[in-house]
This record gives sequence, C-alpha cells and structure tokens, in this order.
Amino acid sequence: MKDEFDSIINIENYEKYSQDIKDGKFFGIESAPIIEAEKKLLSKDGKSIAYFSMEYGLAPSIYNSFQTNRPIDKSNILASNTVFSNMGYIDSFFEIKVNKLLDIPIYSGGLGVLAGDTLKSSADLGISLVGIGILWNKGYFKQSFWFKYGQVPEEMKWDPYTYPGLIPLNDIIKIDIKDGTLFLKLWKYYVYSYDRKNVVPLILLDANIPQNDGRKRSLTDQLYRSDEVLIKIYQRIILGTGGVKALEELGYSIDTYHLNEGHAAMAFIQCAKNTPADEMDILSSKFAYTCHTPVVAGHDRFLIKDFENVLSKDEISLLKKYGLDKSNPNFVNLTTLALNSSFNVNAVSKKHCEVTKAQFPSYIDKIKAITNGVHTHTWVSKSLAQLFDNYKEIIGDWRRDPEKLKNINLLKNNEQFINDLWQAHQQNKRILVELLEKWRLKEDVFTIAWARRIAGYKRPGLLLYNYENLIELAKRIGPIQVIFAGKAHPNDDIGSTYINEMLDKIDKIGSKEEDYIKIIMLENYDTYYAKILTNSVDVWLNNPLPPFEASGTSGMKAILNGVIQLSTLDGWVVEAEDKNIGKIFGFRAGSDIGSEANLRLKEDSDALYKALEELMSLYYQTNQNGKPSLKSKWLDIMINCIAASSFFNTQRMVLDYQNFIWQKPTKTYQLNTK
Ligand SMILES: *Cc1c(COP(=O)(O)O)cnc(C)c1O
Repeated sequence: MKDEFDSIINIENYEKYSQDIKDGKFFGIESAPIIEAEKKLLSKDGKSIAYFSMEYGLAPSIYNSFQTNRPIDKSNILASNTVFSNMGYIDSFFEIKVNKLLDIPIYSGGLGVLAGDTLKSSADLGISLVGIGILWNKGYFKQSFWFKYGQVPEEMKWDPYTYPGLIPLNDIIKIDIKDGTLFLKLWKYYVYSYDRKNVVPLILLDANIPQNDGRKRSLTDQLYRSDEVLIKIYQRIILGTGGVKALEELGYSIDTYHLNEGHAAMAFIQCAKNTPADEMDILSSKFAYTCHTPVVAGHDRFLIKDFENVLSKDEISLLKKYGLDKSNPNFVNLTTLALNSSFNVNAVSKKHCEVTKAQFPSYIDKIKAITNGVHTHTWVSKSLAQLFDNYKEIIGDWRRDPEKLKNINLLKNNEQFINDLWQAHQQNKRILVELLEKWRLKEDVFTIAWARRIAGYKRPGLLLYNYENLIELAKRIGPIQVIFAGKAHPNDDIGSTYINEMLDKIDKIGSKEEDYIKIIMLENYDTYYAKILTNSVDVWLNNPLPPFEASGTSGMKAILNGVIQLSTLDGWVVEAEDKNIGKIFGFRAGSDIGSEANLRLKEDSDALYKALEELMSLYYQTNQNGKPSLKSKWLDIMINCIAASSFFNTQRMVLDYQNFIWQKPTKTYQLNTK
C-alpha cells in the first residue's frame, strides 16, 4: 500500500506518518477507498466537483474518528469547560469534564457544519467531489465568560501535525501578488462515508510556512477575524485563487466548481484569466453558487482601490467586468461576482429563495431553492438509531436512504413503539444529565435549549426577556431546565452585549428558586455539545426574527431525534409548518424584507411564553412518573418530527444539487455581466 499511496499522495515527512498509514489502513480505517477517490479525481473524463467553503465543521468526536499510534499534542484535546448558571455556588467549584479531541477548529457555526455534512453525504452517495478550505492555524477563537464582562475571546492554539487523520503534503502552490509571491502549503483530510466504502478528500490551504514573511504567514490565522480589509481580501484570494491552483497542482480534473457562499468567488477570476473570451459562457456553466445570506450588509464588498494593491491589471478588469457593485461602482461585490459568473445559483430554503429574489431581481431566473439539511449519521443519537433498526421491517433501510424515515408514521398507533421511543429519548436525556452531573438536572423535568451562534437577528436572550414570566410559568405548570450556548463573533458588540445581559439575568434569577428553574449557559459551543443538546432536550428553541434566518439547521438535528420544535416561522421551518412538529409563534414576515433593527422583543417574548406554557402543560400531562401517557399528542408530535427529517437531510440536499445546480445548461447560455 505504501507504494500506491506514495505515488498518489505526496505526504510531507512520510516516515513520521507511516505508523498510522500502513497495512492497508489509514489511521485505523481501510485506505482502499482513498485510492479509488483519488483515481476518480485524476481521471480526465471524470465529472468531478470541487466544493469551496471558508469553513468546515468536522468533528471526530461525533463522526469518523481516526486512530493514531503517535502521541497527540495536548492542545488538540478539550479537557473541560466551565459553566455559568443560576447556581453560582456550583459553577465556582466544578467544571464539565469533556476529554475529547477538538473539532478541527476551522468553522464558526452552521455554515461550516453544513459544509462538513455536505462532504459526508457526497461520500455516502459515492460522488467524486473534493472540498477546498483553509487551515486556520489559530482556529476561530476560544470563549470564556467573565461575569459583568460577558464573553472574553481568547486566541486558541492547536497542532495540525498531530491531529489524527490530518496530513501535510509536500505540495506548495504560489500566488503572484503585487507585493511578492504568496506560498501556500496543502493539507489533506479524508471524509469517509457512513459505511466507510467511499471518501471525499478535503484540501486545506495554509500560509503559515517559512517561505512567507511573518505578515503573510498570519493570513491563515483566524477564521473571520481581521480588522484589516487587506487581510480579508487576501483570505478570499487564498480560498478562490489558491483553491483553483491547488486543484491544478494535484492534477484533479474538475467539471463543476461549487461556491459555498460568495467568499470563494475569486475562483472564477482565476479560471477566467486562462479562458478565451468566446469560451466564457462555457466556463460560467461550470460554476454553481449557494447564497446563504439574507442581509444585504452581509455580502462581501471591497473598494476596487484595495484590490488594486494586490491584483494584476487583467484580474482587476475581470473583477470590474463581472463583480462591480450595483449601488457604488467604486466597489467590487463578491455576491454580484458569484451571481454573474455562476450559471447555477441556489438559496438555502424556499423562504430564503423569495427573499433572495427580492434582493436581486435581475437574477430571478437563475435562483433556485434547495433547502439545507443535516447528515443523518452524524446527528442521529445511538438510542434512536437502535430504535430505527429495531423497527427496520416497517421503516426500511434508513441508513442508506434517510427518506425512509417517513415510514415512522406507520408506527403511530403501535404502543410498543411509542413506549420504546419515549425510553430512547429518556436515555438521551440521561446523557445530558450526566454531563451536567454537578448541577443536578432531572430527567423528568421539562428541558429546553437554545444553542447556536449568538447574533442579533437570532435573538439569543428572548426566553429571558421577562424572566419573571418564566419563573411564574415554572411555579404554576411545572419545573423547567434551560440550556443556552453559543459564541458571538469577537467584533460583534451587539452579540457580546447579549451574552452579558443573559449572564446578568441568569445571576439575578439566582438559586433561590432552583427547585423550579435551572438555567445553564455552556462555554465554547461546538458540534460535540450540539450533538448532545439536539439529541437530548425535550424542546428545541429557535427564535430568529423572520425573515433573517436563511435556513437554520440545528432544529433539523433535533427533529431527527424526535425533539419537538418551538420556533418562529422562518427558514426551513416554513416548509415544515403543516407537519405539526411543535409550536410556531411570533412575528410573521410579509413579502418585504423589513428591518433587522426592530427586533420585536416585547411582542415576540410574550408570544413565546404563551406557546411555552402550552408545551409545558402538554409535557407534564404526558410524562407520568417516567412513563408516557400513550394517548398524548406529545408522542404524536415526536413522531411527526422524525418523519419530517426524512426530507431535511444532506443526502436529499446533495441529490438536489446534483439534479438542479450541478447540471450544465441544455441550450446556449449568455453570461451575465450586470
Ligand atoms: C448545527 C450547528 C449550528 C447551526 O445552528 P442554527 O440554529 O442553524 O443557527 C451552529 N453551531 C453548531 C456547533 C452546530 O452544530
């Protein structure tokens, strides 16, 4: 195997890695699928896809764990996290023991997790695809809470050289820019299918090598963190331009370039540089673009003047031709560039498609709706997977085809199944109770979670808006346990203020009422916590201000595990409104986009408490000393949730990509420049 591996994959310092790559194994997993995948990507008559994304959420602690025979640097292990709760007397003495491998620290939130799940489902489907991303040497950031100060971001350290499964290549690419050459080292990580029969490689670009001066070396330090425009521009050049060069360096023959968000749009400029004018339409037909951002201000815009400090005349004129900002011709807009250059464009839910079309009316003909999903095998809990297997006769082969989960509807009147489902859920809840052992949560108490990136439009503290109401509910209906988690972007003052305010309110609630109400805020939310929370709580709370949540995916992880939704009507939830997967409350968006400045906290928190009261009442009617009341609607809703997840998964999404945006035009197509 060494020879075949060696001839295809040019590993730096092979000897060091040979302990883990030998005898037909790659870090403990069969390596034959790697050779297969590499051969397909190298094949000249192939139909391979290159998928570009600034971030990838990949976490061996929940999927695809590699083994290693070498010591792992301490910095790659997350040992413990502190907790902030209304029981401060516990917080000061105890931590949560985690002890797991860090997620590869190259993502910040849902966009990255979606990119990771996309690679996994592509592998499941045996698609010849390669991911392109960046090796962020200092990750995103490490979060710690300081009472009265809110979130304090700290720089994080990790060691890619001892991270199991991550391999450095000898390949180095060069990008010529005005102030000298930028060198980028390539890394590889293999993402296996659930049955380990296929893989998808992920290529990561890294500027932190001695060939670059100190300033250039820091270009791939931190994801989305930069106070300097020029660094942001460089990072986009690294992903787009560097990505295309990396594919050439590795000899991959690519038929479709998929830009996950406009960050990667420079890939088109790089390809266009070497394309004759009369073949630009053909080039464009190879580009697909997934737009995620419903806020105009969220799209990347840069002064042409700043680009001129870096790029050549040719590149600037291409940028001006395809990427000029519509409202100000001194700017290049990467969304405009992606929209113009890509023959295929998709928004990430039906609602988001409407919003995107309203925002970019000149592109309505090409914008399609392909709703996001989650990777079933990553997000399903052990106990629910076991349950689905036990009822395989009726459900079918849900592992190979998650759509089969809709057959769960056939089990609605099966008392044994309903009991088993409840028990499987309780088993997950016990995992949460154990994680937070010192805080003494109870498995028979109504438990709700809000966890995701902290951003203004997501309204993280809505449940605490008038916390007296929450305490009153808990005393009148039954006790409540609340878990919050999430990071705010370090430059997002509003987000940090939110955290501050939440910590303050949690402290004010205090431990006086702890028999009724326990509120816990977890530090350093990541996919490991996401999995535990989405698997275990009774209700998943999602309260963005419509229509600013393009899709949202955490609720999809929850429904797969039968966790009931309490949500505003936004993103993916609009498509599940008629499926009775919980309670929908609050403001409903009309056809205009409205303003993010008016967060409607008062009205929507009132609506939230009302909806919560109904769910809590139903829960306490259902849960009778640990046994479910079989007639209860609660279990019906849990089953509806699982049935709905037959659609909201990345296998369906990737098949939609294949059918709708990785397709070439059937008739001649005129490239947009406006
Ligand atoms: C799934 C996931 C998200 C996405 O959450 P939304 O509710 O869709 O915003 C964010 N962060 C992590 C760690 C996740 O696993």
